[in-house]
Formats: sequence, structure tokens, C-alpha cells
Amino acid sequence: MRTAAQAWWFAAARLIVAVLIGLILGALLHSPWAGVACALAAYLAWQLIVLARVDWWLHHRSVSEPPETGGVWGRVISQIVRLHRRKRFHKERFVQLMRQLRLSTAALPNGVVILDAQREIVWFNRMAGRLLGLRPTVDLGLRIENLLREPQFTRYLAKGDFANPVVIRRSSPKESYLSLQLVPYGEGEQLLLATDVSRQMRLEAVRRDFVANASHELRSPLTVISGYLETLSQDPALDAELGSPVAEMRRQAQRMTAIIHDLLELSRLEETDERVGGEPLDMAALMAILRKDVLARPSHPREVRVRVDSDAALVGKESEIHSALANLVDNAAKYTPPEGSVEMCWWVDAEGGHFAVTDTGIGIPPEHIPRLTERFYRVDPGRSRATGGSGLGLAIVKHVLQRHGAELEVQSTPGQGSTFTCHFPPERVRIADESLLHG
Ligand code: ADP
Repeated sequence: MRTAAQAWWFAAARLIVAVLIGLILGALLHSPWAGVACALAAYLAWQLIVLARVDWWLHHRSVSEPPETGGVWGRVISQIVRLHRRKRFHKERFVQLMRQLRLSTAALPNGVVILDAQREIVWFNRMAGRLLGLRPTVDLGLRIENLLREPQFTRYLAKGDFANPVVIRRSSPKESYLSLQLVPYGEGEQLLLATDVSRQMRLEAVRRDFVANASHELRSPLTVISGYLETLSQDPALDAELGSPVAEMRRQAQRMTAIIHDLLELSRLEETDERVGGEPLDMAALMAILRKDVLARPSHPREVRVRVDSDAALVGKESEIHSALANLVDNAAKYTPPEGSVEMCWWVDAEGGHFAVTDTGIGIPPEHIPRLTERFYRVDPGRSRATGGSGLGLAIVKHVLQRHGAELEVQSTPGQGSTFTCHFPPERVRIADESLLHG
């Protein structure tokens, strides 16, 4: 094929030759300009015919071959053919990619829902339809919170912290537990990932039941053993050599009883994740009881102070709140030497109600703090066992606080002491005289 320059030179030369022929023939007939005009008209007519053929071919490109014109038109046609081929190639690749994407998302074991900035459904895969009961086309454009009305999910959306998934229980389309997580992307769009965690939840329930049943079964024989050990230890006829082993056995039996008590309490707290209601609790009275309990310990820090900065009540379940706060105060007393001090404090501000226990005890190295609420986690196992700790106290605290929508904050410096603070949300605080709040 000619180069572009050659083709244009050739077209120009052809036009000049046509004009010259017209001029010569016109001159022979004594009308040179008429001859030029005729030559130009013929050239134009020929160009129009070629243009008409190209136009026809463009309209019937899929069924007809391109016209063989050569020259500049030939170049134009081959450019069109090339562009067309390239477009078809990209289109086919795009269609193939889309097909693969559709097939792979359909095969995903997880549900995927694309939401726009208003949280309206843009698209969802087959698994999302199955798990969340979404109807193809009908539910497109609807807001996800109008379709998933479970309170846990509503709270999750309101909180706006999507770092972790939330587990919801659904009764339709079938009884199941779903883990849902929002993943923000683009400009306000979000991806909702849904996973069926019913199996894991069932296994978790089996584990919970097992621990609860085992603890329950162990309680009766242990009560009998403890009873006999107590009688034995008080028997004046007991051989002096046996005194110390029997006392140690009594101590260990008491520890086992404490562990079983805490295990049963944890199982009960774990039964549901539901938030508890409760009644307004008089914090000053509760803290006075906690102080008396600490002072009743055989060994306790010299000073146990109580500071009540607000007479607002805490709304919660009394038995649970008492158990959680008692665990914190008990730990402060356990891990603080007799010459140290412990202070309990209750105050209210715009962020809610706060209960803090500060001690001047042994403190906790920072690397242990994130794991303290794990079951049986102990910073110093030897010391903890010696103090009679079950290793479950802070796990109980965490569960109780969760059920009250509260959070635990731990600050500690080894060798100087620790502060454990429970932050309760404002809806858990009942101001004694509402008029004071607004007045
Ligand atoms: P335990 O029954 O062993 O005290 P907890 O769950 O109550 O179990 O506490 C977990 C661990 O956290 C304890 O073993 C202890 O090492 C550490 N800990 C808890 N409270 C304090 C505190 N006030 N000062 C120092 N260490 C503490």
C-alpha cells in the first residue's frame, strides 16, 4: 500500500491530469474552460460514486466486504476497518470480563451487595439474595436499612464504626445467624458483605452449654468435698501433721468453687447478646457496700476511698452491675499491698456516666492490657493463683458492660498502680432531678 503522502500526491496528480485533459479537449472544441468544467464535474461525480459506495458499506459493514477503491479512499476505508476491529476486540474483552465477574460473584459463598451513597441497593449477587431475602430487580433502589430491620444492624449503621462485622439473627427467609460488614469505597459507596455464621454460632452454643453443664455437674460433688474438708479441719482429733495438707485442700476447694461460680455466671451472661434494661441504681449506696466488702477482706489496702461526684443513678441490672464493679474493686484490693490505697469514683458528663477504680498496686505491663478480658488470662499466673483469682473476673466485667452498652478502659503503670474505668452511655444515666438538667 502507498504511504499517506504518496496517496495524496497521486490523488492530486490525477486531478491535475483530469483538468489538463479537459483543458486540451475544450481547446480543440474552442471552449477550454467548458472542457475544464466538464473534467471537474466528471471528477466530482466519480468521487461522489466512491463516497456513496463507502456510505453503503458503512451501513452494511457486517454483511459486505469493503469496496476496492484504492488511493486516498482506500486508506480511509482501511483506517475505518482497523478502528472497527480494535473496538470489537475491546468490546469482546469487556463482555468476557463482565461474564467472568458475574459467574465468579454468583459462585461466591458470601453475599455481596453494592450500595450507593444513600445506602440504596445498586446490585447484589445470588448469595446475598438468598441470605438476606432480597428480590432481584424489585429491591433494587431500596434503602438497605428498610429491608434489614434487625436492631443490631440498625445500631451498627448508627455507630458508623465498620472495622468489625456485626452478627444478626434472622428468622426469615430461614432461621440463621448472619455476619454483616460494611466496606466503604469510592465516593461514599459501600459494599455490604454477608456471611452465614449459623454453624459457628451453633458450635459456640454447644461449647457454652458444655461449659455450663460441666460446671453445674461439678458443683454438687465439690460442695460435699468442701463440707467434709471443713468438718475435718475443725476436728480436734485431727493429726497435727495433717493440719496443713487439709488447710491447703480447703483453700484449693474454695478456689475451684470460685471458678465454677464464675464459669456459671459467664455462661449465663453469654446466653444472649441482647441489651439489658434494668432499674436506676443508687451508686453511692452501691459503692458503700463495695467499700465494706473490701474492708472485710482478711488483708486489704489501708485506705479505701469513695468519691461520688454525681447523684445521678445508673440504669442497669443490679445483680450484673454489682458483680462487675465488685470484680474491679476486688482486683484493685487483691493486687495492691496493705500500705497502698484504692479509690472508687462515680461521675457524669456529656458523654455519660463513668465509674473508675484506681489503685496504687503492682500495675500491669502495657503488652498485657489488650488481653486482660480474655478468659483465664493472667499477667502473673503464680501471683494470681496465690490471691485466689479465677482468671474470669475481667471476662465477666466485659460481658456485663457489653450488655449495658458500656466500655472498659484500662490505664496502668507497672509498679505505680492501675485505673479501670467503665464508660456508660448517656442513656444509662438517670439524673435525680430532671429539672436541674434543663434549668
Ligand atoms: P483474676 O481472678 O486472676 O484476678 P481477672 O480476670 O479478674 O482474673 O484479672 C485478669 C488479670 O489481670 C489478673 O490475673 C491480674 O494479673 C490482672 N489484673 C486485674 N486487675 C488488676 C489490678 N487492679 N492491678 C494489677 N493487675 C490486675
